[in-house]
Amino acid sequence: MRHLPLLGLMVLSGCGNAVLIPMTDADADASPAFADLGGPDETCDPARDLAVQIVTESAILLRDLPDAGFHAGTLLPSFDIRAFDLQPDDREDVIAAVHALAGQRLSEFGLRVVGEEAPEGSEIAEAPEIIARVVITDLPGAPEHCGCQGSTSALGLPSDGPAEAVVFSNAYVDNGLAGVLMRYSRKERIEKLAAALSNSILHEVGHTLGLVHVDVPGQPTLLMARGGSSATKVSLAAMTTLQAYSQEARPVTTDALGVRETQCDVCVIEDTLAARRECLR
Ligand SMILES: [Zn+2]
Repeated sequence: MRHLPLLGLMVLSGCGNAVLIPMTDADADASPAFADLGGPDETCDPARDLAVQIVTESAILLRDLPDAGFHAGTLLPSFDIRAFDLQPDDREDVIAAVHALAGQRLSEFGLRVVGEEAPEGSEIAEAPEIIARVVITDLPGAPEHCGCQGSTSALGLPSDGPAEAVVFSNAYVDNGLAGVLMRYSRKERIEKLAAALSNSILHEVGHTLGLVHVDVPGQPTLLMARGGSSATKVSLAAMTTLQAYSQEARPVTTDALGVRETQCDVCVIEDTLAARRECLR
């Protein structure tokens, strides 16, 4: 039950039509060892907070990242603001703006966004469960491997800790965004960079929640368009405007692992999170 296979869930899940198999109700009180063996988690609180963590300091990759050719244990350098002709003091403003923008989208699903530091004054019992970790890193060369601004270790949430995704901020130098931003004031540059980073973060988070790429020509402002915001590189405005998950069924691209023919992003995310909240996986 806790390890319901991803593909199985996808088949069962339409738009809010997940078929949930009832948990066995076998003498849970009398057999505490049952939980130790991986049975239903009696301590699972469906009302607990779930969070996405955004990491901007240097980080060790927890999982293999085959798209980018990295293995678990790879050291990812910290997010470097200097490539965007901004000052070290501006870094906090960019990160704060990213938290606000990404948080705006993810709050639509009841998800919190947290940074590396423990929330101030919170008790351990109130700490959210981190379901996905996104590392923003400045790692030249990586986009040549993965051909995009980011990479996700796997499609769907793992049951053994947070999913992991990486956004390569240097990709915005390679694809020309950083150069174009030089025409703008410092304040606008911070805002536009934060929006572009947020779009990439949300695209990768989408993969961790089970989303594949959608194929909608002329709609570059969908978060799960192939290559995410790289699909919008022709348009600075589209790239630096907070994008949206699709609320309607959209055709998926042929690289979509054959999981489904159409995808309603919002529906899949809601199904995935509902299963996680009920501790089904
Ligand atoms: Zn993608």
